[in-house]
Formats: sequence, C-alpha cells, structure tokens
Amino acid sequence: MNILIIEDETKTAKFVQKGLFESGYFVDVVSNGMDGLYYAASRQYDVIILDLMLPKMDGWKVLKALRATDNNTNVIILSAISDTDEKVKLFDYGADDYLVKPFSFSELHARIKAIQKRTKPEAIMQMLQVVDLSIDCVAFKVSRQNKTIELTIKEYLLLLLLIQNINEVLNRNTILDKVWGINFESETNIVDVTIRRLRKKIDDDFDVKLIHSIRGLGYVIRDEVA
Ligand code: CA
Repeated sequence: MNILIIEDETKTAKFVQKGLFESGYFVDVVSNGMDGLYYAASRQYDVIILDLMLPKMDGWKVLKALRATDNNTNVIILSAISDTDEKVKLFDYGADDYLVKPFSFSELHARIKAIQKRTKPEAIMQMLQVVDLSIDCVAFKVSRQNKTIELTIKEYLLLLLLIQNINEVLNRNTILDKVWGINFESETNIVDVTIRRLRKKIDDDFDVKLIHSIRGLGYVIRDEVA
C-alpha cells in the first residue's frame, strides 16, 4: 500500500506518517498542494490524505485537478472545521472520505482500511509474481517454487518495494526512506545487511537469481533473465 500525505502542518504529517509507516504502508509526505498534485500524477498511490488549507494550491483545487485528469485514487480529506455543506461539496468533488481535525490515528487507519475494503483491490494487487517467486499480499505469504519462505517485516517490505519497482535499480537512500522511514544521509549499513538476508532466503537455494546488487548504485529485482 502506497499512501501520499499532502499536509503542511509538520506535526500532523509526522504523526500520520509514523503511524502508517509502523502499520506497514509506504508513505510519501509533501507540504504544499503543487507538490501534492505532482506526486499524485507521477506515482501510483492507493490512498491520498489531503489537507484543505495548503500553501501554493489548496486542497479543493488539488482534488478538482485530480478528478479532472481522471485520477481516481481514493482521497481522504483532512479538514479543520466540521461543516456539513463543505462535506457534501467535497463528496461532490470526488472525495472518498472526510476527517475533522484533531483526529486519532486509529480513526484514520480505520477509514483507510474501510476504503481498501470498499474498493476491493484487483487480483493483481493481492498476488504478486516474479518469475517463480510468489507473494500473497493478503496473507503476507512468500514462496518460491511452492516452498514457503519466512521473512521478517522489514525483509517483506523491502521485497515489496523492489517488486513495485521491478527491473529498476533503487539506491540505498530510497530504500532507507521507504522501508525504515529514515530520510537523511546515513552511515548505517542496515540496507545491505537486510538485502543480504533477503537474498539468502530468496535466491540462495535457486539457480535463477532474482535480486541483484549494482555496484555503486543500489539494488534491483529482475524478471528479465540476462
Ligand atoms: Ca493546513
């Protein structure tokens, strides 16, 4: 699950980001409407959490622009005031849900789960396949040639991230940001260590290697046999 948070209040953005991240979602955060629209248009998200009062372009305009370009990503609106007229108008504009500040993380999480259920992810989102490696995203089960592979949460998130960007090299900083929520230059070798453990579980016992390290660049999972 990929979630985009468009929110200029750092405190709110941070607590939502932290909560979602710990619940196993991939999260991007931007702090103005222009960046929000750009991210929403250039990446695939399952849910967009959109604040109304935003610099550069307000939430209304972002929502309108999204729907005008046939972007049907689920949008949950964050509003500072509870106003029925506003709420109705937002639903007319194509919002999927509406949450009044302040809200608890568990409330937001429940709304996200409800939206997921309503929209019923397509089969392709439930089962992922890379060559003979299968991931059941609903049961969190990973197997290769029908052999079950036990992964830790971080190994699982890392594998999902690689698969979502299949045949595309991801650098360490991107992986650190997405899987560990660390978005600064860091000396940690946690990415390399986790990749090593993942390769051991995914690739060691099989002739066809799926995960590759690209010296000086990062890591990639490939379904193209070189
Ligand atoms: Ca705001």
